Order: sequence, then C-alpha cells, then structure tokens
Amino acid sequence: MLTVQLHGRRVLVAEHVLSLLTQHRQLGQRDPEAGGILLGEVNPAGDVVLVNRASVPGPLDRATRHSFVRDHRWAQGISTYEFLNSSGRTIYLGEWHTHPASAASPSPRDRQMITEQYAGNLLVTDFLLLFIAASEELYTSLYDGRRLHETTVPWAGSAE
Ligand SMILES: [Zn+2]
Repeated sequence: MLTVQLHGRRVLVAEHVLSLLTQHRQLGQRDPEAGGILLGEVNPAGDVVLVNRASVPGPLDRATRHSFVRDHRWAQGISTYEFLNSSGRTIYLGEWHTHPASAASPSPRDRQMITEQYAGNLLVTDFLLLFIAASEELYTSLYDGRRLHETTVPWAGSAE
C-alpha cells in the first residue's frame, strides 16, 4: 500500500493497482502509452481516499508512443460493473496513464483532459485524481477544480 498526502487528503493506493501501473510502464523502445480509470472509495468525512481498482487498457483505446485517448465505453463498462458489484461503494475517482520517460509530469493536454473530465462529469466527489506512471516514478495528483496538487514517488519506494 502506498500512501500520499494530496491537498489535505490521505490517498491510499492498493498494491495491485500499483502493480497494474508498473506492468504497463513504457520500458520498451516502441511501447505505446497505456491508461485507464481509477476507482475506489472515499470515507464519509472525505479526507481518506482508497484507490483499490484501476481499469486495464481497452482494445479500442487510441494510443501512440506519446499520446493516449481511452475508449470511453470500455472504462464506463468497468466503472458500472465495479459500482454494482460493490453495492455502490466503488466509485470513479480519476484517470491514469503512462509516459515514455523516466520522470513523470502532466503535459498541457493532460491538464486540459482532467479539467474537462471534472467539468463534464456528474461527479460523486469534489475532486479527481490524475496518476502518471513513468519508468522510474509515479506522479500522483488531486485536481480540486482549480489546480493539480501533486506528489511524485519513486517506484523503488512503493511497488518494488
Ligand atoms: Zn500524459
């Protein structure tokens, strides 16, 4: 379990979510980006977030070495399945994808994407998470509707 503090919230990331993200790192010369959604639970006070599910990449995602646009219906299907399967406890929390670099930071397009997701979705939460898996570190951030609050952790200190 990885724990990060993001804008006054304690965000816990389950081990199997970390290993899914590490598995999709772009370690090969030609590996395309990969990504999906983050799912989990928020406590009633709203200050503890548990990320215990992440969707695997879908067959209709559009991915190149330097871009990723996920198939909306694939993630929506997984999100609905997890919601129903958990009696409504497991909810959509945000987005993850990989970057082909050793260090991770969001691109202008990533910032635009999370802003649009926040504005366009009927969210249960008042925030969204954005995780980026680079080859040597994991970028974690929480978007509160105004800006990204971020922490970067080396993989060596978390999943491995
Ligand atoms: Zn990106």
